Amino acid sequence: MFITLRRFNAKNQQNVASFKWNLKTLPFGTQSVNYHLNGDFFREKEPVEVMAASVEVCVTITRKSEVDYEMRLDCHGELTIPCDRCLEAMTHDVDTIYELSVRQEGDEFDDSRDRVLMVPEGWHELDVEPLIRDTVLLTVPIMHTHPDGECNQDMLSALQAHEAVAAENEEETAERQTDPRWEALRKLKNNN
Ligand SMILES: [Zn+2]
Repeated sequence: MFITLRRFNAKNQQNVASFKWNLKTLPFGTQSVNYHLNGDFFREKEPVEVMAASVEVCVTITRKSEVDYEMRLDCHGELTIPCDRCLEAMTHDVDTIYELSVRQEGDEFDDSRDRVLMVPEGWHELDVEPLIRDTVLLTVPIMHTHPDGECNQDMLSALQAHEAVAAENEEETAERQTDPRWEALRKLKNNN
């Protein structure tokens, strides 16, 4: 049985579902809430620089007991991020499902285990915002580039020229910084 939790929207006049879920008053059974994420949702959040975004997220939560919940995040859409090779914008498709168990127990918050979230017993609210953000950003590979041949060639040439100059300067600096005593020793060795 799916019920869209309208009452989660009540606090927010803009009709955007709240990311704060009240666990204690959650009815038993399954509920779901939909979110639309745009670029602002990811703004200035490390480690990925997101230039723009359009991602639909459906968070489904099943309350199984007083303290046990099953959660599922369905995330679909796209992010605009800079290509690691040419630095121009590229589109990264988001298409992922993340399932986890949530348990209210003890007094410590613990998200160190994969797919298990421990929430302090006394907590009434669970903020799903970081969970959603991490789930989406984890779909971005560490090295993300345009498909081969689709990078901005002008940008690549400019970057390569810049790198060559930088490398040359570095070499010159390194040469100048060579200790003259080692240089003398090297010459001595070569003469033998
Ligand atoms: Zn590129």
